[in-house]
Amino acid sequence: MGGAGHFLDACFLCRKPLAGNRDIFMYRGDTAFCSDECRSAQMAADEAAERKAVTHHGALPAAPQAQQEQRGKVRAGSILAL
Ligand SMILES: [Zn+2]
Repeated sequence: MGGAGHFLDACFLCRKPLAGNRDIFMYRGDTAFCSDECRSAQMAADEAAERKAVTHHGALPAAPQAQQEQRGKVRAGSILAL
């Protein structure tokens, strides 16, 4: 009930409904994808954006800590968390 979990309704990238999807691919704890392809595409986009932002500060890209957060919070079939 309510807004929590709404983000799991559909793939973050292609908006394909995730209901009935046996495998949901999680990214950063709060983003769900219908397939590894969609997740990889989003990861690549995020990495490119992060690299851009980091380059601005002249620092090396650090390991994204967000990936470690909220892991295992959601359950729907088998979650392939990253
Ligand atoms: Zn998708």
